[in-house]
Amino acid sequence: MDRRAQAPAPPPPACTQCARLNAAQRAADARGDHSRGVDYRVLLRRHQDEAHGGER
Ligand SMILES: [Zn+2]
Repeated sequence: MDRRAQAPAPPPPACTQCARLNAAQRAADARGDHSRGVDYRVLLRRHQDEAHGGER
């Protein structure tokens, strides 16, 4: 996509934890398991807060 490989704090789609939680949340939503989906959403937010500095 972009050739700017030096962005200091980009939104990390390459973060395995983000990808994992995103996939899990999507899968739960796709199943209609919305309480699980919310769970994963919370986990994702918490992870991003701790691992990526909150805003992103
Ligand atoms: Zn992450």
